Amino acid sequence: MLQLPNNLELSQSDLTKSHTIRVAALHALAYCPRLFYLEEVEELYTQDAAVFAGRRLHEELEKEEEEWEDLFLESEELGLRGRMDALRTRDGQTIPYEHKRGRPQRDENKQPQAWESDRLQILAYCCLLESALGIAVSEGRIRYHAENVLIHVPLDEMGRQAVQDAIQQAKKLRSSTQRPPVCSNERLCTRCSLAPVCLPEEARLAHNPEWEPVRLFPEDDRRQVLHILEPGTAVGRTGEQIKISRQGQPVEKIPAQQVSQVVLHSFSQISTQALHFCAGEDITVHWISGGGRYMGSFDSRQGSVQRRIRQYAALTSSETCLDLAKKLVNCRGKGQRQLLMRGKRGLKPVPENLTEAISQMQKVLKQVPRAESLASLLGLEGNLAALYFGALPNLISAQVPPEMHFAGRNRRPPKDRFNCLLSFGYALLLKDVMSAILTVGLESALGFYHQPRSQAAPLALDLMEIFRIPLVDLVVLGSVNRGQWDIQADFEVRGCQVWLSDSGRRKLVELYERRKQESWKHPVTGYSLTYQRLLELEVRLLEKEWSGEGGLFGHLVLR
Ligand code: SF4
Repeated sequence: MLQLPNNLELSQSDLTKSHTIRVAALHALAYCPRLFYLEEVEELYTQDAAVFAGRRLHEELEKEEEEWEDLFLESEELGLRGRMDALRTRDGQTIPYEHKRGRPQRDENKQPQAWESDRLQILAYCCLLESALGIAVSEGRIRYHAENVLIHVPLDEMGRQAVQDAIQQAKKLRSSTQRPPVCSNERLCTRCSLAPVCLPEEARLAHNPEWEPVRLFPEDDRRQVLHILEPGTAVGRTGEQIKISRQGQPVEKIPAQQVSQVVLHSFSQISTQALHFCAGEDITVHWISGGGRYMGSFDSRQGSVQRRIRQYAALTSSETCLDLAKKLVNCRGKGQRQLLMRGKRGLKPVPENLTEAISQMQKVLKQVPRAESLASLLGLEGNLAALYFGALPNLISAQVPPEMHFAGRNRRPPKDRFNCLLSFGYALLLKDVMSAILTVGLESALGFYHQPRSQAAPLALDLMEIFRIPLVDLVVLGSVNRGQWDIQADFEVRGCQVWLSDSGRRKLVELYERRKQESWKHPVTGYSLTYQRLLELEVRLLEKEWSGEGGLFGHLVLR
């Protein structure tokens, strides 16, 4: 083992303050420039199974090999920093080692060779050693553990030049606000840990309508949303688990990896320790008032500044905002009309005002692409909403008790049970849309249609429009027609105000969360996802609208 003088050892904290480039980032660059950009500039990292497996390999090596020791080095002169897997002395030569979990590639003679990105990485470590320690390094070695093959990579002039070129390319990309295009080799994407946030197949579809995308976006999010509905419940942390202490009930413990959100309703409490823990585990915490109003969220993910700069640049253009708003109004209006048409199929005779509303809506929808301002679009949206809510009562079954009927939209506070259900459902939806925006790292305060007048973030209000019909209106209408509501036990009527009782809240939360787990085939990408995942996908597709890969946002219309 090479002994280093004390003054050459660098701590991790020293290194993270640096402006030098990580050697691991050069590995990403050689794999795909867009991967480098997403990780180093947009600060997007996902920890998929391959990443965990790689980390496990290093932990095992640390335990098994006595002389295994990693080492941090930095060279301002070279512009690199990195943590070497191992450094050994063989025949008087200092040799850096890199351990890889997988297999090497094979040349035309079936001989094992290092992958190009691995080769660049080990060469960069060789150059870093030379520059930081002032010693001569003639080669680096890569062990591919899946086949137990050791590859020698000599450091020659070509290798040095390749490292220099990569450093220059990395510096250039790091100062750019433009995300590089997706790579031309699709096979790289199927193994890329950032495919779910990069969405390469969707980008290819945006450029080529004939493209048939493969789904690289996870179909489902198996983590659960924890709704804490009982006032007085305390949420804390114990070890790696979320601890829920309900009054008069045994303590419940849930592993953090199984949780995506904690939703605190009414006056339930969460400890500072639990908030710190949630921040570290990327668990979003939301608050919903006892009256069913979305109050706010806590999420430590900031999103990169480059992504925000692109959003600000795009959404300060009134033309871009109008274009996006048209897609939104069109999407929601078509969804509303489609819901009325679905309901009409089961009615005999079909009420005249229902037929009339469907036909009028079609006429209004035709005017949407011609709207010349957000103000005129608001007028069209208002017309669509009036026609939709005016006709909606026709879809409520005659068997439904009069207390559950609907005679037009009202809110703040809702004056009847149906509106009370809609309002609480929209609060749950707003919370989920906020979660998706925070996950993607956009600025929720800057939207393209809603104006920043109320407490709610305009971008979240914008995006909600796409999901109101499939996630809330349909759920409420269906449950009312199925007679799932107890008009006494599930509601609290105070004068002309109607609120959900504890049992009513619990029931709607269950119906809503169940609906989010249902799959829907995306009309443009052609693959199926749960609504839970569609929320995030739609925010990512929105971001593509101003990142040179647009055209896929706002097509989620009920069939
Ligand atoms: S998914 Fe494909 S295009 Fe996107 S970063 Fe990974 S390799 Fe590059």
